[in-house]
Amino acid sequence: MVYIGALKSSFLHSLFSSFMTEEQLNLIWKSALGEIKPKLSQAVFKTWFYNTSLISLNNDIAEIGVDNKFNQRSLEKFTQDDLLLSLNKYSNFKITKINYIIKEKNDPEKKKEKPDLFNTESFSELKSNSKADKTFKTDSSQEGKEASNLNPKYTFKNFIVGNKNRLAYAAAKKVAEEPGYYNPLYIYGGVGLGKTHLMQAVGNEIINNEPQKRVIYASCENFTNEFTMSIRNGKMENFKRKYRNIDVFLVDDIQFIAGKDSSQEEFFHTFNALYQTNKQIIITSDKTPSEIKGLEERLSSRFASGMIADMQLPDSETRQAILLSKCEEKNIKLPNEVLEFIADLIETNVRELEGVLTRVLFELEVGKQEPSIENVKQILKDFKSNRPIRRNGMENLKKVVCEYYGIELKDLVGKCRQKELVKPRQVLMYLLKTELGMTFPSIGREIGGRDHTTAMHSVDKIEKEMKYSDDLLQELRQVKALYYGNK
Ligand code: ADP
Ligand code: MG
Repeated sequence: MVYIGALKSSFLHSLFSSFMTEEQLNLIWKSALGEIKPKLSQAVFKTWFYNTSLISLNNDIAEIGVDNKFNQRSLEKFTQDDLLLSLNKYSNFKITKINYIIKEKNDPEKKKEKPDLFNTESFSELKSNSKADKTFKTDSSQEGKEASNLNPKYTFKNFIVGNKNRLAYAAAKKVAEEPGYYNPLYIYGGVGLGKTHLMQAVGNEIINNEPQKRVIYASCENFTNEFTMSIRNGKMENFKRKYRNIDVFLVDDIQFIAGKDSSQEEFFHTFNALYQTNKQIIITSDKTPSEIKGLEERLSSRFASGMIADMQLPDSETRQAILLSKCEEKNIKLPNEVLEFIADLIETNVRELEGVLTRVLFELEVGKQEPSIENVKQILKDFKSNRPIRRNGMENLKKVVCEYYGIELKDLVGKCRQKELVKPRQVLMYLLKTELGMTFPSIGREIGGRDHTTAMHSVDKIEKEMKYSDDLLQELRQVKALYYGNK
C-alpha cells in the first residue's frame, strides 16, 4: 500500500521517540482497528472495541484501555495476534506483549471523548487528509442537527411505551408536536430508564419537522463546564448568546447542578430568558425538584411549575417488547422464550437489559450457537451468580425484611406506627430505593399506599442514621446478604 509508506515517512520520526502524543497513539490505534474491522462482523467489532484506546507504547509493550473484563478476554482470545501485527506495522516498534487496562467507571480517561474509531470503514479512509478529516468534521447540511448535539438514534419510533413510562411519553410527544405546551417538562426516574432517549426524541422530532428550529441538548455537566470555561476565557457574551437564543433547550441530569452556585445563577437566567419567550425547556433528573439537595428554591419551584412526569422500570412485558424491537433493529430473530427469559432476569433498567442482549447475541455469534433457551441460559449463568440481581426483586426484598426482623408482611406494609415496625419499614424503603432504584412515589404506593414524602423521609432518615450507627450498617449488610442469597 503506497499510503502506508507515506504515513510512515511522515509520522515515524516522531513516533520513534519514547513519548507519543495522544494524537499519534490515536492514529496508530485507528489504523490498527481499520485492519481488524473487516475481519469481524460489525456487531462483534463494536462490542469488543467499544471505548478502547491505545494508552501507551514502549519498545515491546502496548497498553490498551478496554471497557470491561469481558471485552478484555475477547480481545486476548480472538484478536491478540492481529493486534500485535498491526500495532507493530503502524508504530514500527517491536511489540511482543499487550497489557489490557480496564477503565474504571469514574476514570476520567473513560469520560474523555475519544475520536470516533468506529467510523473507519478501512484503513484506506485515512489515505488523504481531506478524506480523513470528514470523519471528524461537520457536513454543512447537517449543521443544525449537529449543533444541537442530538443523537439521531433516539426517536419516538424506537421508544417502546408501557404503563411505567406512558405519562412521560405522552407529555414528550405533546411538546414535540406543540413546543411550549408543557413548560418546563420535567422528567425524572432512575438510571437507564429512557430519560435521555425520550428527551432527545423530542429534539429530533422538532428538528425533523422544522429544521430551522434551534435545539440544544446539553448534559448538566456540559452546561456547567462550558459556563466555567466561558468565564475563564472572558467569553460570557458568547455563552449567553448561545443558550438564550434557542427554541428548545434540553438539559439532562440537572441534579448535578446542585451545590454549584454560580452555575445555578446562570441557569436561572437562561431558564427565565427562554421561559418568558415561551421556548420549550425539558429537564431530566433522577429526582423530583424538591428532592435535589442543594438546589436553590427559586429553581426548584420553577422546575415544578410545568409538567412533572416520572419514569419507572418497564414491566416484564414491556421489557420483552423492548428486546424484540432491539432485535428487529439488528435484523435478528430470537425465540419468544429467550426474550422472556432475559426480560425476567433483568429487573434493574433498560440500559442493562440492552447490555445483556448485546452480550447474548455476541456470544451466540462467536460460538456459532443456536439461539436456544438452553444456550442462552448457559451464557448468562455466571451473569446470574456474580450479579446481585434477583427475580421479583421487590417481593423478595419485602420477604427478606420480614424474615430478618421477625415480622409479618401485613404489618410491614400496614399503618401501625409501633417502633418495632417503623424501623423495618424504613429499611425496606431505603433498600427499594438503593437496590432496586425505585422512585419515591412508587415506593410509597407499594408500602401501604403512602405518600411519596413519607418514602423520602424514611430514606433520608436511614441515610442520616447510617453515618453514626454501626448497628444499622450491620443490619443493612445482613439484610442485603439475605436478599442476594449470600447467606
Ligand atoms: P436514562 O437517561 O434514563 O439513564 P437512557 O435514555 O440513556 O436512560 O436509556 C438507556 C438505554 O435504554 C438507551 O439505549 C435507550 O435507548 C434504551 N431505552 C430505555 N427505555 C427504552 C424504551 N422504552 N424503549 C426503547 N429503548 C429504551
Ligand atoms: Mg440519561
